[in-house]
Amino acid sequence: MARYTGAVCRLCRREGQKLFLKGERCYTDKCAIARRSYAPGQHGQSRKKPSEYGIQLREKQKARRYYGVLESQFEKYFEMANKKKGITGENLLQILESRLDNVVYRLGLATSRPEARQLVRHGHFTVNGAKVNIPSYLVKEGDIITIREKSRGSEKIKAVLESTEGKVIPKWLDMNRDTLEAKVISLATREDIDLPLEEHLIVELYSK
Ligand code: SF4
Repeated sequence: MARYTGAVCRLCRREGQKLFLKGERCYTDKCAIARRSYAPGQHGQSRKKPSEYGIQLREKQKARRYYGVLESQFEKYFEMANKKKGITGENLLQILESRLDNVVYRLGLATSRPEARQLVRHGHFTVNGAKVNIPSYLVKEGDIITIREKSRGSEKIKAVLESTEGKVIPKWLDMNRDTLEAKVISLATREDIDLPLEEHLIVELYSK
């Protein structure tokens, strides 16, 4: 299945909430959710009561869209989460949070997850000293993430750092903005993840 390349604001409108896919624009009154909060398309404004399955499906789609993950990859993450000890839904969110593109976004090294994915693909980051250009790379506790030396002078990186100045970094990560070096202190726990997701609905969906 191909990656979605359409207008990303439609995804937010479909989920009925901000998914923060467009960086700074998401915080302005140009945000499509602020202007038209109903779903896109001909039937977007109809108010049909969703079925239980429909509710679970929407929650899964919302999670996929937050993190920009394809269906097949999401299923693999679910299998991984299911095999791990602990609560499957929380394991799933922890795996999603551990993706390098998400970590780059959380560190304020990108203004949105889609931008983080692009910057990772363009090879701007290293993990433990080695270049990593795979957005789905899963970080581990103790990993050191830095902006590559040759990328530090790039106008793009400078602009990103300027617009994310003062961003609050979650406590499972540590970021030194002087050296542009970050560390994964521990993997994210459910309390660290501020997304309004009801992960138990996703587990119920896959358990059918
Ligand atoms: Fe979503 Fe951002 Fe577009 Fe608003 S501006 S609809 S939050 S992607």
